[in-house]
Amino acid sequence: MSKREYFSLLPSVEEVLNNEDLKGIINDYPRDLLVEKTRFVIDDFRKIIVSSKVEELLDFELNIDIIVKNIIEEVKDEYELHLTKVINGTGVIIHTNLGRAPISETIKEDIWNRIGGYCNLEYDIQKGKRGLRYDHLENIIKKLTGAEDVLVVNNNAAAVLLVLSTLAKEKEVIVSRGELVEIGGSFRVPDVMEQGGAKLVEVGTTNKTHLRDYKNAINEQTAALMKVHTSNYKIMGFTKEVSLEELRVLADEVELPLIEDLGSGVFIDFSKYNLKYEPTVKNSIDKGVDIVTFSGDKILGGPQAGIIIGKSKYIKKMKENQLTRALRVDKLTIATLEATLRLYLDEQKAIENIPGLKMITMSEEELTNKADQLLDILNKLDLSDVEFNIEKGSSQVGGGALPLEYIDSKVINIKPKNISVNKLEEKLRLSKSHIIGRVYDDKYILDVRTIFENEFEIVAKEIVNIFN
Ligand SMILES: *Cc1c(COP(=O)(O)O)cnc(C)c1O
Repeated sequence: MSKREYFSLLPSVEEVLNNEDLKGIINDYPRDLLVEKTRFVIDDFRKIIVSSKVEELLDFELNIDIIVKNIIEEVKDEYELHLTKVINGTGVIIHTNLGRAPISETIKEDIWNRIGGYCNLEYDIQKGKRGLRYDHLENIIKKLTGAEDVLVVNNNAAAVLLVLSTLAKEKEVIVSRGELVEIGGSFRVPDVMEQGGAKLVEVGTTNKTHLRDYKNAINEQTAALMKVHTSNYKIMGFTKEVSLEELRVLADEVELPLIEDLGSGVFIDFSKYNLKYEPTVKNSIDKGVDIVTFSGDKILGGPQAGIIIGKSKYIKKMKENQLTRALRVDKLTIATLEATLRLYLDEQKAIENIPGLKMITMSEEELTNKADQLLDILNKLDLSDVEFNIEKGSSQVGGGALPLEYIDSKVINIKPKNISVNKLEEKLRLSKSHIIGRVYDDKYILDVRTIFENEFEIVAKEIVNIFN
């Protein structure tokens, strides 16, 4: 065929839009988008003809079905929401790149019913007058932590910023050198201090800080003593940190507020579940910390939020700070956080229904059951180009919590026979269900701890698509 003949095979936009297959989806998408993509695809085919030699076009398939198929793909691609579900087979429970804390299924309908339309976000129904958005969270957080007062902002970085800007602007804050953490590259204690207008005074050394180091650094410019939970690393060996109890005594002597950035927001004593003890929020309040900050979407298991709790006299000042308006949370966050926190009124219920907690505390027996179940589904596929087996692995809490804690887990090792494990990783990641696994030691593995049971069949389906 000559190039001219190929060109003559290109349909007109009108012709394409009258195609039966396209008509089938015409009501599902904006007409302008269909027209735009039709022009785009026809033009794309034209360019191929223009830029190719006639010999190269011998295998070139050009008919209306192919064109329509391409258009439908383009349209779907553009219309699909970009934020999408993935399946987390990495074993990292609080995975910052994968949306941090998974949110409880049990609360979703309730949240939508309450706030989908209008709601009492800033309205006091009793009085028929303006109310405060923070009121919805106040009682529940007070009850769970024993704190006097509460303020919730956008995230924990914002919480720390607001605390420092309110209590220590143009003043000094004393922090141990062992606690100058960076979290995920975007939160660095020294930088947040600077943003908050506070001057950081580092004391002690990386591995050892003594009470006298804090004492010696105090002067008229000092506005607060601050402790930062080293939530993503641990200093081991010859170490010394000053306890909250000691800092409390010192803070009282010099009449300065004691601030603690806890990071993760733990409400449950993990040592009861054979895990290492991670300081709880209540522990800090009980030990007399004046202001504690933590995230809503790490171990707590809620939406992104920064929770500030502590003494009323300080929180009152924060509420009056202009910054609070810029850092405020919306109704979606408040509703999701309130509903998540309510689950904590019954610890068993929290562990059962908040996915992150359930994954952290999962017993070996549960993990074995999960792995057996998934393996069984995969083996039943009866695929000849791939093998599966269960191995021991280790999960991580992640998200700056239980820093060195690798918890024993069960993983499925998937061994493809004709493609590399890296290729398999890519295919599963780019599949419709976006399965994210781990490649190490030239193995491809899926950690069953972070995969929900109702996702097992989906994993199987994508594996069939690859190996069938
Ligand atoms: C995670 C973390 C932060 C930052 O919290 P975001 O909610 O991500 O803003 C701050 N401090 C500590 C100690 C943390 O672990």
